[in-house]
Amino acid sequence: MSTNPTARAWAEIDAQSLLNNARTVQSSIGPDARLLPMVKADAYGLGVTEAAQVLERTDPWGFGVATAEEGAQLRALGVTRPVVVVSPVPEGSLLTALESELQVGISSLDALRETADMAESLGSRAGVHLEVDTGMGRSGLDWRAVDTWGPHVSQATGGTLRWVGCYTHLHSANEGPESVHEQWRRLQGTLERLRPPEGVVVHVLNSSAALRLPEYAVAVVRPGIFLYGGEIGTGLVVPEPVVALRARVVHIKEAAPGDSVGYGATYHAQGAERWATLSIGYGDGLSRALGNRGHVLLRGVRAPIIGRISMDVTVVNITGVPDVGRGDIATLIGTDGDARITLDEVAGLAGTISYEVLTGLTPRIPRIWKGLDGS
Ligand SMILES: *Cc1c(COP(=O)(O)O)cnc(C)c1O
Repeated sequence: MSTNPTARAWAEIDAQSLLNNARTVQSSIGPDARLLPMVKADAYGLGVTEAAQVLERTDPWGFGVATAEEGAQLRALGVTRPVVVVSPVPEGSLLTALESELQVGISSLDALRETADMAESLGSRAGVHLEVDTGMGRSGLDWRAVDTWGPHVSQATGGTLRWVGCYTHLHSANEGPESVHEQWRRLQGTLERLRPPEGVVVHVLNSSAALRLPEYAVAVVRPGIFLYGGEIGTGLVVPEPVVALRARVVHIKEAAPGDSVGYGATYHAQGAERWATLSIGYGDGLSRALGNRGHVLLRGVRAPIIGRISMDVTVVNITGVPDVGRGDIATLIGTDGDARITLDEVAGLAGTISYEVLTGLTPRIPRIWKGLDGS
């Protein structure tokens, strides 16, 4: 546990575990497939500067982002590998994308035309990855209509655009293999009719599928959440925890029987109780849904969150926890002594998923990276 005397609440991020999780994915997919780690949304909230630096050590094929601006940020950090924008790029961001030499995901014929026009006006040959919609339904060219859009793609990629990749996104890889088999079959059918030129890289798998169904690891895979410590399903390989979330005890109260706590007075002391106020709230990204539901660790012991979570503070019942004092460090995610609260446990209690817990941490939380130099 880091001693960080100035911060009221912070996230500790373990570089070595991020690297180990990436290596776990690489060994699952085997030496012939390459990683395209997803570092969108500031590397799932952890900090893309450090995450990219760590992931560079796996010699990835490239990096995946969701927006042109995120890609431009990687370029500003000195990343020279391919950077693929996998989400549809609004026309207003195409200039940024092409000026930063990003590879653009093409999700519609309109996007194809706009990207070709922009490339032509810049006199550059932009690299593109064709997205095929095999069932996700949110973006991509419909797998059933390949005979309609295929010729347009061939024409554009023979001219201003350079055809680098072809991909689809799985909707339920975390739930089992059936839907993955079906989406795979649809993509193969599309590729047979499309006949992309030699060298076009195909990529399909997210974290869950890369670890459960590595037989579909074609040229490249696109893992995200597993790298950052999110689980991919019960009974499956568990990632090393990457993120710990801590906050400080800033106030202790001796509560009399019946005393209430927090907005709405939703909790009352059952008897004489001891409460500790922690300097973290939903303004830091701690889900308000954890009020009267979640726990924290103090001195290696679980203490329940009582009352509603406020914007800046959260109160826990420390009646059963000896010796807690102002300045002590509470763990909201992570280990303290022999006790542990996992990212996925918190997500489950909050009624959400690990992705949202991580990306929901606000700028008020300093991200403190450990082991960045491989030390
Ligand atoms: C976010 C994303 C991924 C990564 O998914 P995980 O479940 O985090 O592994 C892969 N592909 C696309 C298109 C994505 O948007």
